Amino acid sequence: MTKFFSKWNYPTTVLFGEGRIRELPDALAGAGIANPLFVTDPGLAQLPVVAMTLKLLDDAGVSYGVFSDVKPNPVESNLNAGVKVFRDGGHDGVIAFGGGSALDLGKLIAFMAGQSRPVWDFEDIGDWWTRADASAIAPIIAVPTTAGTGSEVGRAGVITNEATHTKKVIFHPRMLPVTVIADPELSVGMPPFITAGTGMDAFAHCLEAYCAPGYHPMADGIAVEGMRLVFENLPKAYEDGKDLTARANMMSAAAMGATAFQKGLGAIHSLSHPIGALYDTHHGMTNAVFMPYVLAFNREAIEERIVRLSRYLGIKGGFDGFAKAVLKLRKQLKVPHKLPGLIKGLEMDDKRKALIADMAVVDPTAGGNPVKLTKKNVLELLDASIEGK
Ligand code: NAD
Repeated sequence: MTKFFSKWNYPTTVLFGEGRIRELPDALAGAGIANPLFVTDPGLAQLPVVAMTLKLLDDAGVSYGVFSDVKPNPVESNLNAGVKVFRDGGHDGVIAFGGGSALDLGKLIAFMAGQSRPVWDFEDIGDWWTRADASAIAPIIAVPTTAGTGSEVGRAGVITNEATHTKKVIFHPRMLPVTVIADPELSVGMPPFITAGTGMDAFAHCLEAYCAPGYHPMADGIAVEGMRLVFENLPKAYEDGKDLTARANMMSAAAMGATAFQKGLGAIHSLSHPIGALYDTHHGMTNAVFMPYVLAFNREAIEERIVRLSRYLGIKGGFDGFAKAVLKLRKQLKVPHKLPGLIKGLEMDDKRKALIADMAVVDPTAGGNPVKLTKKNVLELLDASIEGK
């Protein structure tokens, strides 16, 4: 096998730009969906963006159902309830509308509605996805309202297994939405904390993909430009949520991050997944907390790449300059510097730390970290993030 070996998947159509949500009825027709289930979360369901979008469907004479029982970091009971509503309503496709939680759950409903095996049989392990009946997967239109996860251009859904308190990635190539409507106007209402957390999620995707070992110049190219967009636009979107240019560039960066992470992710995510599953923290904000500690930990393996990246970004001072720029960005966005700043009243005994380390080393993202993750070094990373060293 050649060392120039990589895999590239991107067969979705993205309709990008403000006002493009108006093309939703046409997108449904194009995907052959006559009776969609509109999947969103309860917070968004109360906001004008949802009312405006449902009115577009009403005006176009589209019959649809609405499902909004989706908690942040969705769980299996949300999925089962959604699948039931999908089946009972005779739906033939999904409009997944929201942040990563609603997008993932919408995608998983479309996937699971026609399957007879439990969802955990389709975890992103080897060829487990081939167990699914691909012909029974309903088509998906994805409409992101945050700018971070990039789930709209991904083939996976993340769901928490409440029995084991673990976040699982469920994968199938046909879970990729047929069409994405990426309309930055829909993200204008995001509050600052979610703007910061989701934006840092996009940044973490680009950074970890870029640092992951392996031959993938396309992913690397997308990741470096994604990071430029975040550095230049996330503080603006955070300061002024109505800055449409910043919002649009962040929506691009989010899709770019998820495109790039086909190459791999790393320790930021390996630690963030167990913390999110055990403490129900915001995924992107958790990534942002771990970022500088993982950057320092990986230094030896990534220094050359980071120096090259810094040149592209116009950041002086090589690796140290880049690390400082990350700290500055976090500060601008009021990201807590230590884990206890994110999880109020955090008390972690050795048993709990060992559990987190055990979960992190087997997380599917662990293999992408440029330095091999062991229980020992994950415990050190965890301590560093608790103490802020
Ligand atoms: P989220 O979907 O959990 O949403 C967070 C909050 O923001 C919710 O309360 C929601 O109502 C609110 N919100 C969303 N859009 C809004 C808007 N326009 N205006 C006002 N409020 C708005 O947050 P997220 O960070 O987008 O998604 C996180 C989830 O995505 C986690 O479960 C994470 O594990 C998953 N994830 C998936 C992938 C993937 O590849 N599929 C990648 C990364 C993360």
